[in-house]
Amino acid sequence: MQTLLRDARQCAVCTNTTTYTCVNPRAYIDSRDLDGRPYELSIIALPYWVQQCGTCRYCADDVRLAHPDARTIVKTTAYLAQLNDTGYPFLAREYLAAAHVCRMTERYADAGWHALRAAWKCEDMLHPMAGFCRNQTVQSFELALHHGHAIGANAFENAVIIGDILRRNGDSAAALRYAQQAGECAVDNLQSVVATQLLHAIDGGIRTRIVRAAPTS
Ligand SMILES: [Zn+2]
Repeated sequence: MQTLLRDARQCAVCTNTTTYTCVNPRAYIDSRDLDGRPYELSIIALPYWVQQCGTCRYCADDVRLAHPDARTIVKTTAYLAQLNDTGYPFLAREYLAAAHVCRMTERYADAGWHALRAAWKCEDMLHPMAGFCRNQTVQSFELALHHGHAIGANAFENAVIIGDILRRNGDSAAALRYAQQAGECAVDNLQSVVATQLLHAIDGGIRTRIVRAAPTS
């Protein structure tokens, strides 16, 4: 099965049609890291889980789809400032711009996933803004949970993903709370083992904290 496909897509904001390289939605996922990253697949797919319209600069996982407010959001100073911020790798800027649109339209789980993919890009480059992207991910995921939106498949996955992102940022106390929550939500032996692994990773300092979180201002 091909992992990447070429597809002509019409932007839902400005109607411009561009041919994009897209990730096959049926692409095989071997396994995921505790923060939800399908690492093997992401080596190929990470540049293509976001699309930017070359005409109106709308960023989304699929430019054919847009909230009615997106037309206004892509013209705002805040959106364009994010997209033009050279303090981030180019791909991370596209993900963070897509996250901004999602946040402004109250799609908090999608906003979190976009910000997390920005963090993965920064991690791969050993870029210092990875911590900021993870912070933004956690904020969006916590807002999603507050509004009753799904992040992972169930409460157990939600807790593991957020706990591991916090661990990677070196926030052991908050990570521990989510790891304990994951343990309480575990419904079978495998989930209990995963929750224990996360606890040990936090306790043992098996930290993949490549960088420090940057100021959020
Ligand atoms: Zn467009």
